[in-house]
Amino acid sequence: MTTQNVAMADRKYSFDWSLLGDINLGRPNLGKDTRLEVYRLMQFTLRDVLEKHLGSQATDEIFYEAGKLAGEHFYHEFLTGIDDIETFLRRLQETLLEYRIGILRVEKVDLEKGTLVLTISEDLDCSGLPELDHETCVYDEGFLSGLLENFTGKEFKVEEIDCWCTGDRTCRFRAEAV
Ligand SMILES: [Zn+2]
Repeated sequence: MTTQNVAMADRKYSFDWSLLGDINLGRPNLGKDTRLEVYRLMQFTLRDVLEKHLGSQATDEIFYEAGKLAGEHFYHEFLTGIDDIETFLRRLQETLLEYRIGILRVEKVDLEKGTLVLTISEDLDCSGLPELDHETCVYDEGFLSGLLENFTGKEFKVEEIDCWCTGDRTCRFRAEAV
């Protein structure tokens, strides 16, 4: 995708965690919870419009990049100060559970070779979706790559190899250091 870099001064939405606001203050009655359909409604309508304007490949690239940005910020918010991969993955598992993002399992870790295989069950983005002929969790791919890159300092490419949408009951991701 050809990216056109917009000067920082012209940007309205450069991401910062504080943009998520003070939810306790803002929602004294409704609190932090919402219905998952609403999250998916936002994601799938945004995806529809992006695809109409840019095509499906560019849309996937944007989702991957946005997921990666989320992974980077999620790392800095919740997962800094950890040295070893086992502790990192355990804390990640706990945090993904706490935020109801999904149930992470680690199938394979080889940091020497730079490969990991991770599964996420009951995934926020896709669990329960109708069957499709393609994997759909591009945002999650980017999210995992952002997390791993910030933890290891190496670049990671993450690919979803099984998905709820392709008939599997879990999403499986292969991560490889580039
Ligand atoms: Zn999936």
